[in-house]
Amino acid sequence: MPRSRRPARRRTSGRGRTGDVAAERLRRETGTLARDVRAHVCLAYPSPYRVGMSSLGFQTIYRTLNEAGLWTHRAFLPDEWDKHALAWPRPPADIRTYEGRRPPADHRVLAVSVAYELEIAGLVRLLEGARIPVLARDRGEHDPVVVIGGPLTFSNPYPLLPFADVLVLGEAEHLVGDLVDDLLRAATRSAALAAAEGRPHMLLGELGAPFRGDLPDVGKAPRTWLPARSAIVTPDTELADMYLVEPERGCSRPCTFCVMRRSTNGGMRWFDAEEVLATIPEHARRVGLVGAAVTDHPQLEALVSGIVDSGRRIGISSLRADRLTPRLLSLLHRGGYRQITVASDGISERMRTMLDRRIREEHLRTAAERVAAAGFAGLKVYEMIGAPGETEEDVDELIEFARELASIVRLTLTFSTFVPKRNTPLDGAPFVGVETSAARLRRIREALSGQVTLRPQSPKWAHVEYLLARAGSEGGHAAVAAVHAGGGYRAWLKAFERVAEVGRPIRYGDEEAWARRKGLAALRVPDRIVRRREAGSNGPPRAS
Ligand code: SF4
Repeated sequence: MPRSRRPARRRTSGRGRTGDVAAERLRRETGTLARDVRAHVCLAYPSPYRVGMSSLGFQTIYRTLNEAGLWTHRAFLPDEWDKHALAWPRPPADIRTYEGRRPPADHRVLAVSVAYELEIAGLVRLLEGARIPVLARDRGEHDPVVVIGGPLTFSNPYPLLPFADVLVLGEAEHLVGDLVDDLLRAATRSAALAAAEGRPHMLLGELGAPFRGDLPDVGKAPRTWLPARSAIVTPDTELADMYLVEPERGCSRPCTFCVMRRSTNGGMRWFDAEEVLATIPEHARRVGLVGAAVTDHPQLEALVSGIVDSGRRIGISSLRADRLTPRLLSLLHRGGYRQITVASDGISERMRTMLDRRIREEHLRTAAERVAAAGFAGLKVYEMIGAPGETEEDVDELIEFARELASIVRLTLTFSTFVPKRNTPLDGAPFVGVETSAARLRRIREALSGQVTLRPQSPKWAHVEYLLARAGSEGGHAAVAAVHAGGGYRAWLKAFERVAEVGRPIRYGDEEAWARRKGLAALRVPDRIVRRREAGSNGPPRAS
């Protein structure tokens, strides 16, 4: 197993272009906390500022720690360290915190939030750029305690184990304050790790032999800690000048590919519209409603109208096609929306049924008609290529249906390639393959050229995501090798040549009981298709 070398500490001024950019961004922020104090905690994000500051989870932990008096500053991957394409060795400038202009290594605790598998490459670069030994086992008494959490821990936290001194699983806002407080009180690094050991929803990372034990349960924040909301509003993010608030957490639906499905952490928890509206600060001119299933909020129209009627603009992280009423669309139009985005995911009626997506052709058609009637510039639909059982006939259906939608409204289709995730019923399903996915995308592009705008994501990076999604802690070590080999697709393939898939049982929530009662959805769904076929309504599912 590769071991990382302790990077040599180098003196750098911390000024120059990166420092200037940070100072300028700080100047444009509203709501910055702990600006003029010396912080003992560095909260870092393994992607650039514009991505990290758009993460409500990252903003929530920043606010939570500072409100508890645990002064926390922020660090990000420099803009130019693109997560896929950075040549190795990395650029010479060190990473510094935004507020304090200090190296993250000078802090007692480094907390990192990782959203999904491909950000593990950013994590490696972040630690190297922060002059902190990448692997937990190489750290010494004077290194910060590295605490890692974030959305990836709901699915497959194993590849994070080599990097974490302490890994926090699931929701963390109610856990992180006490944890950090105890870490800061400990006299030595070993005492800090001892203080973290055995806490609920946490484990020490890979210190010694590869970790193979059972994972603790994921954390679930009590309602008193919610709704999550951002501290800082800035024009320099993907969601420019937007205050973020989470009117609901989780989802009560059963989509078989989705980590946020109903069994992961107890379904949807929602908050009264008045309670959510009361959190919006006076200075916020744009409000983003963030959550897995915001349009399932039972008071959605009251919530949206409360924001729009106050003269603010609005953004919603997820819109369901079957929840787009004319009134909601009218409110969204008044709130600044120019294009409506919904998800289909399955590329045909059969695939949506296979995935338990519960969005049907008629919902998408009606959504297109209403979007056009309400005067929006267009409709964007998320599609997912390569889910289990997808065939060329499904691609034919997508093409035909896309032409129909494009005759109603200006249409954009975005495509990802399906990656089976741990802690979902489709865990263990095959990856469709880069060639197959690319060929289907090519066919769709040729068929819809000039009629539909297409935005495909790279199947190669979906493949890398797949390799990490099914890996154990060895996947983290392979990620270090891949980044050091340049971080290109071939480097990842080579690094994973010897990494075996590590199976583990479905783990979180009541998924296991659900599977016992119903049978795994991945197995159950083909039965349903077979029944439909016997009734003469559809063709057989075929492995692609
Ligand atoms: S895809 Fe959306 S609707 Fe389906 S389970 Fe996930 S969050 Fe819920």
